[in-house]
Order: sequence, then structure tokens, then C-alpha cells
Amino acid sequence: MSRIDQSTLTLVGTEDPKYYAELACRIPNRRPLSDEKLCSDIQGVDEQLSQRLRALLDAVADISLRKRGNVSATMASVMDNKGTLETQVYIAFNHEDDDAASSCSDHLRSVFDMLSQVPYKPHGVDSSPKDISKEPEGSLTEVCRAIHNYSFDIFAYRVNKREHKLSTIRRYIEQDVDGFTPNQRSTLLLFLQHVGMIIEVVANAQATKQLSAADMRMLLAIYLFWTHNGLLPKDGLADNVAPLLDYADTWLAENYNIGFQLRRWAVKIMSLVISADRLLTLTQSRRLHKIIKGKFAIQPLPRLTTTPYRCNLSSENIRVALDAALAGTTYCTAEWDERRESFIARLRNGLEGSEVARWEPTVHAELAMITAMFKGELQRVLPYIGVSKLSCIMCTHYIQAFNDVTGVRIAVKGSHGKAYPGWFWPNLPSCDGEVREAFLGLIRQQLQSDFKLHYRGRVSVGYDLPGLELVVTAEDIKKLFALRNVILDD
Ligand SMILES: [Zn+2]
Repeated sequence: MSRIDQSTLTLVGTEDPKYYAELACRIPNRRPLSDEKLCSDIQGVDEQLSQRLRALLDAVADISLRKRGNVSATMASVMDNKGTLETQVYIAFNHEDDDAASSCSDHLRSVFDMLSQVPYKPHGVDSSPKDISKEPEGSLTEVCRAIHNYSFDIFAYRVNKREHKLSTIRRYIEQDVDGFTPNQRSTLLLFLQHVGMIIEVVANAQATKQLSAADMRMLLAIYLFWTHNGLLPKDGLADNVAPLLDYADTWLAENYNIGFQLRRWAVKIMSLVISADRLLTLTQSRRLHKIIKGKFAIQPLPRLTTTPYRCNLSSENIRVALDAALAGTTYCTAEWDERRESFIARLRNGLEGSEVARWEPTVHAELAMITAMFKGELQRVLPYIGVSKLSCIMCTHYIQAFNDVTGVRIAVKGSHGKAYPGWFWPNLPSCDGEVREAFLGLIRQQLQSDFKLHYRGRVSVGYDLPGLELVVTAEDIKKLFALRNVILDD
């Protein structure tokens, strides 16, 4: 695109939320502000049912995707119609460049038909969780296969993503003599062998994009092996319970300088199995099986229109944004200038020129859902947005601001802390200005916290601390104390 074309785009300034999206996506490892309030139970529903409904809505979002890059969000209302529970699921997508929106209704309906056929055995998950995945034959295979074949491209992408490093890693582990115990080593080699088998199965299925029942049984057997041998947590996405793969990652990084996330890969490969397993487990929930056995309607929401924009990430502009974020804090004094300059330089790092243009900005799926809800297009939905992946930092702050202004208590799964270029602000009639103001307050707090972390990073590599050969003055000690406060401050 030529410069002349760009100049016709709307120019957004530092008072526009979209400006902060562009700034925020330039910081890769951020610590999000606490999202505790957002990750609470569903308002009006007790804790136990809330957990099940959240799992259901997240799983529905997860299994609705067809292509890499898709993200979806779900909300649902449950109504009792003469003793039959009728569930209306609304689903929104980030992208409309594939047939996910048009085909997901049939797909989800067929999955829920299968789920409704699963016999309900009382005393299931509500009392003591029953590991239904111990029965890989039958229902689980069938549901799993439907889910994988619908989302084959995503599955294949996840499986193949790190394939090129597999043989190198295998060689290092085979040659190792003292990094692992013999038992650990053979478990790891078995794990890598399994991954190799899955890669081969996917390669063979590329032409038809369909996995056979036998493929699926193998995948499920591997999943069971991984969970029962501590390679994956039994609760698919729990943290810190798969130490061997994490340890292998550290070992690879320290000895061979390979930055590889074996556990993350394993979870990604199995994420559709995990969703299928969760859905099957939910059929055994005393309260949820009635919902699953009831009527299901799925309504995809249309994508919201957006207008292309550009913004100027010059040092001067970023300084204005940062000044607004740091106003009223201890960082807002002249002596902090150098730190501010280094932070600004980091935000600008790798930019060619100052202007960025976004030709196809997107209203993220969660916010499309909120907009539809606010406009009254969704009827009596539970205040929880299910998502196929954790929300970005911009959406999290948006939902928080929306809740603060409207008094609604919408909950979400959580945030991974990242931001994406081309994030678009959805207009809400009547309360847009108020939400915008509350949002700017939150995102500026986030920028302030990003700045503090950046500052901390500088401290840890020895930013102008007095060396031991110097005489330490009272002023130095004061500075050190101030640094300490900064460090303890967050
Ligand atoms: Zn988002």
C-alpha cells in the first residue's frame, strides 16, 4: 500500500483505546493486572454448577474452530420449557474467512446428539469425578473423531508445528548419560516416539483430512499413557503437574540452547482430546446431563464491521501516552526520564518508521458477544463468555470496564496477557463514552505496570548500581531503597 492510500485511513491518537492495543502488543512478556474479579463464578449460579457450565461453554468454543487463527466465544441461556431444558448457545468468531460460522451449527448439534446418547450413570462428577477416559472405546472415540475431523487443519498444524526439531531432541536425549534417570530417559523417548507416530498418522490423513476410528483409538491410547505416566496432567490444562516434560525443557535449554516447550506441545496436540474428554465427563454431571439431554440450538453471530485505521508510534506520541499512564505516580518526575526513554525505545524496537496501518482490524469474539448482548440480541444469557483460548489483555480490560460501568458481572476464563495488532473497539450505544473512560483508566494502569516490569528488568542486569570500589553515599543508599520499593511495589 502506498503512503497516499494510508493517509485516507482514520488516524487514532493516544486517547483512543486502539492506540494502546498497538503499544501493548509490543511487549511480549507482560504480567497482566489481576483478573480475579473477571474469573469468578457465574453470577446467580452456585459454584459447582458454575464450574460445569464454564467447562461446557469453553469446550463448545474450542471445538467450533476449523482453521488456525480462528478464535471463538460462546454464551448460552438455559430455559425450562415444560420440563425440557432448552439451551440456546450463541457463538461469535474472530474471523469470517472460512466456513466455521456457517458450518458450526450442524457440527455442534451432531456432537451434542452423540453426547445425549451417552448413558448417564449416577454418582458421576458431582460426587466423585469419574475418569470416563478410562473407556477409550465407544462414545469417546466417536465424539473425539467427529471433533478432530471437523477441526483437522488445526489439529494437523498443532501436531506438525515443532516437528522439525523432533529428531535433534531425540538424539540429544538418547546420547545423554547423566541428565535423566534411565527410567525418565525411556519415558521421554517413548513420548517422542508417540509424537512421531501421531505426525505420521496426520501425514497419511492429509489427503482426506479425516482420521479413522483406528487412528483415533491410537491417539486416545497415547493420551491415556501420557496422563497416567505424568507426562500430561490428568486435568488437561492444570499447571505444574507434568514435571518431566518441564524438566526436559530446562535441560534442553541449558545444555543445547534449545528453547522448546515439550509440555506445551503435548497439551496442544491433545487439546481436542481434552475437550472431548471434558464434554463426555460433563454428561455424567448430575445437573448438567439434563441440559445435555435437552434441546440445543446454536446461533452464530455475524461479524461486526470495522474501519481501517493507522496510528503514529513516534517517540513523542508514546511519551504522551506514557505520561498519561504515569501521571500522579512516583515515576512522574524528571529523574525518571532515562528509564522512560529506554522504555519508549523498547516499544519502538524493530519499527520501520513510526506509522502502522491496520487494514482489517477485528472486534474480538468476546467483545462481539458483549456488543450483541448489550444490544439485546441475546436473550437472558448467563453472564459467562466461554472462549477457545484465553482472552487478550485488551479484551480483559474492556470486559472489566464494561462490568464496572454497567454493573453486569460477566466472567471469562482469564487472560494470557498478550495483545494483538488491529484490535478494534466496538461501539456500544448509550454507554460507550463511560466504558471508554473506564477502559483508558485500566489500560493506563497496565502500561504503568509494564513500565515497572521493564524497570525491574533493568535493575536485574545491574542498571547503574554503585560498584563495590565506590564509596557508598547516603544518597546511594536512598536510591537503593527507592529501587527496593519499586521492586516490592507491584
Ligand atoms: Zn481480545
